[in-house]
Amino acid sequence: MSQQVSRVAMPAQDPEIRNKNFSEVALGYTEEMALIEAERCLLCKNPQCVKGCPVEVDIPGFIKKLREKDMEGSVKVLKGKNSLPAVCGRVCPQESQCEAKCIKGIKGEPVAIGRLERYVADWDLARGAETPVKPEPKNKKVAVIGAGPAGLTAAGDLAKMAMT
Ligand code: SF4
Repeated sequence: MSQQVSRVAMPAQDPEIRNKNFSEVALGYTEEMALIEAERCLLCKNPQCVKGCPVEVDIPGFIKKLREKDMEGSVKVLKGKNSLPAVCGRVCPQESQCEAKCIKGIKGEPVAIGRLERYVADWDLARGAETPVKPEPKNKKVAVIGAGPAGLTAAGDLAKMAMT
């Protein structure tokens, strides 16, 4: 596959249509778009993008799996560090975090990491996402106050720890 210089644009609703509904404006990548964008990544050995990610997602790792069309593997890498990839792929300020550090941004446009994250997370959701296994009780109780991204992530990570 030849390497595209500029990042693949995100399809969006036409303004004349979107001003009559409350659906998402950005429509997400198709498989073809995601694979073309994924090819732009250099799979750096010392990935600066990861240093820009607050939860240190293995960005080249999930992109490599996506390129290989190993979607389950890609989801696994992504969710290894981030419990809410569909949310982060949409609302994280990537332009000032991971994408701001991407080496491709020095001489051109950075890899569209957030759009690829969204694509992989949406693939996972479309197949019904893995249902979490109910953890065995360990006779310890933890209360998580708040149901925002931090609270949900803390609850999810604690549940995972209870399973190990
Ligand atoms: S810095 Fe950019 S090119 Fe390098 S691994 Fe990260 S996303 Fe890919």
